Amino acid sequence: MSAKLQLEKEIREAVVFLREKNQTIPSDTIEFMKIASLEKLNSLPDIEPKTIILCADCNSDNVLIKNLKKMKGLCVDCTGEHNLYATILKAEAKVIGFQVVGTANTDKEGDIHPDMLSSSALYSLKQAREMIKDRETENWGLLTIWSGDIEEPQYMFLGNPRQNIICPDEDILQILLDKRNGEDCTEEDSAEIKGYLRELKLPEEQPLVAEIQELFPQEYGEYLTEEESGAPENFSDLEVEEYLAQWGQSHREITSNLGLRPSHADSDEILMEDYFYLEGKKKWYPKSASTYTPREQKIVEYIRNDRDNY
Ligand SMILES: [Zn+2]
Repeated sequence: MSAKLQLEKEIREAVVFLREKNQTIPSDTIEFMKIASLEKLNSLPDIEPKTIILCADCNSDNVLIKNLKKMKGLCVDCTGEHNLYATILKAEAKVIGFQVVGTANTDKEGDIHPDMLSSSALYSLKQAREMIKDRETENWGLLTIWSGDIEEPQYMFLGNPRQNIICPDEDILQILLDKRNGEDCTEEDSAEIKGYLRELKLPEEQPLVAEIQELFPQEYGEYLTEEESGAPENFSDLEVEEYLAQWGQSHREITSNLGLRPSHADSDEILMEDYFYLEGKKKWYPKSASTYTPREQKIVEYIRNDRDNY
């Protein structure tokens, strides 16, 4: 893997780590960091093609070399010990997805797995592994697809190939996949996407929001403006109540959770950096959180501007 690719991989991993683990950095900030650093990376001059080591079974570069002389190693993607081989790839080559194909020297050689839509369909690692498992008595194996391997790849997953982004709504999933595969979006699609953003609630859908933002920047922008335009009308009192019930922590709870001394003199100033206090509820609330939905973030801003009423 080239230095540039390696760096891109690490940046993406860092972003996933931040999205999953941190409680305070808003997802917009993380997204901004990702875009800014990838742009910077892209502006660097291209590095010469590089020799890389791949798994002889599945073509993945996700390998741990055990014996370089004998070219043996462990493949993380297709799992287990395999032969390795060295090859030269363009500096910008990267893994864009996976397929499931018949194993060499068996009755399935040259075939694609029956669950694959077509020979240009690309799946995530998780989807591909499920296909293999569904027919584990037959001779199917993983194949890693690199940029340039397939002329017009058809993406069947969201996010990057080794990270699975869940979209619980099938219609929305289809719209996102169509857009990813370069299809024009209709006005109906656009309205559906905005409606879906307004209804998002589950914290686990947060990576999906980033994906929507990337695929539908215009709709995402319009949705944000709508939300900003008339805060009280856009979310119901019930939603505000739900937020207040779900996110508040008493002074005792929060100081204990954060490992602070419970006295106000020792903790108030520190807490006020990232939290705000509602006198009426006697509770602390995070100013922002990676697991907030965009709607919850807007609710927070609304409450903070009208603190005396809560
Ligand atoms: Zn492999």
